[in-house]
Amino acid sequence: MSWEVAIERAKSSIVPRTYDVLKRYPYLQEIRKQVREAKEEVVKNLDHYIEETRKAVERIGGRFYLAGSAQEATEIAAKIVGSGKVVVMSKNNVAEETKLRERLEAAGNEVWETDLGAFLVQIAGEEPSHILAPAVHLTKERVAQVLRERLGMAVPPDAVEIAARVREFLRDKFIKADVGITGANAVAADTGAVVLVENEGNIRMTSVLPPVHIVYDGVDKIVPTLVVAQLVADLQSAYAGLYPPTYMNISAGPSSTADIEMTRVSPAQGPREYHMVLVDNGRRAAARDPVLWEALLCIRCGRCHLHCPVYWALGKEFGKPPYTGPMGVMWTAVTRGIEEAGPHALKCVHAGNCREVCPMGIDIPKVIHEVRVRYLKITK
Ligand code: SF4
Repeated sequence: MSWEVAIERAKSSIVPRTYDVLKRYPYLQEIRKQVREAKEEVVKNLDHYIEETRKAVERIGGRFYLAGSAQEATEIAAKIVGSGKVVVMSKNNVAEETKLRERLEAAGNEVWETDLGAFLVQIAGEEPSHILAPAVHLTKERVAQVLRERLGMAVPPDAVEIAARVREFLRDKFIKADVGITGANAVAADTGAVVLVENEGNIRMTSVLPPVHIVYDGVDKIVPTLVVAQLVADLQSAYAGLYPPTYMNISAGPSSTADIEMTRVSPAQGPREYHMVLVDNGRRAAARDPVLWEALLCIRCGRCHLHCPVYWALGKEFGKPPYTGPMGVMWTAVTRGIEEAGPHALKCVHAGNCREVCPMGIDIPKVIHEVRVRYLKITK
């Protein structure tokens, strides 16, 4: 079974579903404009909003860290986690970008991806092929084979059966976990809260069951307010064809209760520690770049992938995982530089579908063209 089979199955399922969502909920068009405007405001004043976020996180009893590079980010997280811990993670492209799981494992921790797709990629020992559906390249037949070979799980090639068996396997890890690491669909600068949207329920357990919650994501996820952060999550799930999302999570500090004399104390049932590690790794430079800045508006819906003929043909060979597809070429340039992004920009055929379907109206072909021009200049 091949990539061609896997991507055809994914496209025929999700593309019509997304069009149906957009037709059924016309108010999404208005939300799109509001979110673009808010994200543009943050990109133009990124340092100001990072500082606002820092103050807000500290105000709600959390600890804030700004990491300049991938290495700095993983060192900060490794220091918070320590060693000999059980760590559960929800799907997180920035963790993949910075190789966080590998760093925590090297420090002697047992680390588990809990999103089904990310878990399958971890078990298969492969790279993710899509920002939202990291295991989209694996057919159900291949998944059954990987689970049998790597975990001794005898499971038929059936999505329902596979999900049930992995749920059983991971339940024990959630209970034992010392630390939960999530990303964020959006970080609200006014409140220090993060909004996370999902369907599996794993993010809710990752962010609530362990005594320590670490939010680990990029500075580009900052938006001005919690209201806008929720709109980002709405939009992301809609343009991923998964609207309404099954769960919308907000985390804003360690757990607390005000049930005794109405005085708020912490912790209560959830985590006792709330850490937020925001990663720069090229983002602040991109925010100042006359062309690359537009990449920072991306809300990671993954729609551009499914309309791109080059991604259909090449999969994760177009862009550098975790950033594949049209957005992936832009994001490879942001996080790894023109030299690494350039060869991928050369593969683009400029069909232009990505720009047409992007909820943020990002001129993706223009950004990719600029990456190509800069790459050719430095390599000739
Ligand atoms: S570039 Fe646009 S379509 Fe592609 S993932 Fe980002 S927001 Fe979605």
